[in-house]
Amino acid sequence: MSGDRKIVVMKFGGTSVESAASIGRTAEIVEGRRARGLTPVVVVSAMAKVTDQLLAAAAAAERGDRNGALAISSRLRNRHLDTAAALLTDAPAANTRAWMEEQFQALDDLLRGLAAVQELTPRTMDLVASYGERLSSWMIGEYYGQCGLNGIHIDARSCIVTDAEHGKATPLEGKIEHALRRSMLPILDDGRVPVIGGFIGATENGVTTTLGRGGSDYTGALIGRGLNAHAIEIWTDVNGIMTTDPRVCPDALRVKTISFEEAAELAYFGAKVLHPATILPAVQKNIPVWVLNSRDPANRGTQITALAAHSRTPFKSIAIKRRLTIIDVVASRMLMSHGYLKAIFDVFDRHKCAVDMVSTSEVSVSLTVDSNERLPAIAAELSQLADVKYEGRKALVCMVGQNIRGQHGIAAQVFAAIRHVNVRMISQGASEINMSFMIEEDDVEEAVQSLHRHFFQDPDPEIFDVTARESLAGITAGVTARVEKG
Ligand code: ADP
Ligand code: ASP
Ligand code: MG
Repeated sequence: MSGDRKIVVMKFGGTSVESAASIGRTAEIVEGRRARGLTPVVVVSAMAKVTDQLLAAAAAAERGDRNGALAISSRLRNRHLDTAAALLTDAPAANTRAWMEEQFQALDDLLRGLAAVQELTPRTMDLVASYGERLSSWMIGEYYGQCGLNGIHIDARSCIVTDAEHGKATPLEGKIEHALRRSMLPILDDGRVPVIGGFIGATENGVTTTLGRGGSDYTGALIGRGLNAHAIEIWTDVNGIMTTDPRVCPDALRVKTISFEEAAELAYFGAKVLHPATILPAVQKNIPVWVLNSRDPANRGTQITALAAHSRTPFKSIAIKRRLTIIDVVASRMLMSHGYLKAIFDVFDRHKCAVDMVSTSEVSVSLTVDSNERLPAIAAELSQLADVKYEGRKALVCMVGQNIRGQHGIAAQVFAAIRHVNVRMISQGASEINMSFMIEEDDVEEAVQSLHRHFFQDPDPEIFDVTARESLAGITAGVTARVEKG
């Protein structure tokens, strides 16, 4: 469909567009792709933390705290106006200022209305949350127009068509493809760079929806699939997919290549670097996905492809999912009788609550879910079937790697490395490439650091970027030598 054109979808996350300086860096990165003969389509998130703040404003309004809500909106207004003023000059600056003032007036009206009725529906929450990406994408589109990239803003709600499941809408593939062809291709034919907000979409009737938190990655993948892109690039604030969250292990290493299958497991089990839905659209069209660092664009990042090299080490990365709850359903009799598990799962289904892990014994079933406000209602329904108790503040640690398949003794190594930690549930085998267990949230850092030390002490340089560690070792050796000399 794209002919000779090689489309690269470039998604910049919140930290990559958090200030005028970082937006300036994205323009240089996009220009670099154009210089290589690629055709960029740019997807942007809201500026860092803006979505959280918009949701906090909506929550304040719902509590009736009108002034609190308006104060948040006023801070957001100043931040956006200041950033636009730093980026833009002349007519684009004046246009953007006027347009932003209008947007913030509409947002304030909305917040006042919410505070008056003290009611917040998922539909209204989506509308409030959508301002983040609407503002950032407009501003960045104007900036790309001014800085020589020939940029043009496109409202995501004109092409990301979804169902009406507010808060986590499902994209409608055929309709999106049709809309993308209609709105994007002529722009690309004109040699322009479209800039579109991630995360947001609209129903066929034009009602604003969102794809779920972190959903801009997903937008990038949907556009990549819809336009048959040559590559999808997820630009973020770390060097790629790392051996674990660098906030937990600062010595985490960059994984050079990883398979779609491995990346999907990691994303699903909590590695925030990639939204879990991102992989599927890319797999369907076999489009390689890259995770790259907008603060260090020369770094090669992580390539996610259908077939990635196997590592010597059993695992490629360790994901962490926090804020989980374990639910124990304990029956005195009849537990494994026909239809019992179905009855339990039907309760979760009715509440649209996804279950992450399950384990059963003769008399009990334990399940884990994201902690959420529906738990009391779920527990009340389950208690009609059996005794129920639930406990929050749990975390899941998920170790992923194709090399787990057929290797002996790995579980023994994992549990030896965390022998001081109380493990509540264990799962292995479902995908053959992950091994997961559930622990107390307070034990997560210690457990992951200990596993990371054990499994990544001798990393395979084919798969992992060991240069950072080598230079660190060099510095340490230098310091030691100096100390010895002194
Ligand atoms: P963006 O705003 O660019 O979408 P996110 O905050 O959603 O960025 O994702 C990037 C963050 O994901 C990193 O700063 C890092 O703390 C976290 N993270 C968690 N697990 C991993 C991992 N395995 N590799 C890299 N980053 C990870
Ligand atoms: N801005 C949205 C969020 O914070 C979407 C994203 O950044 O991917 O969840
Ligand atoms: Mg993200």
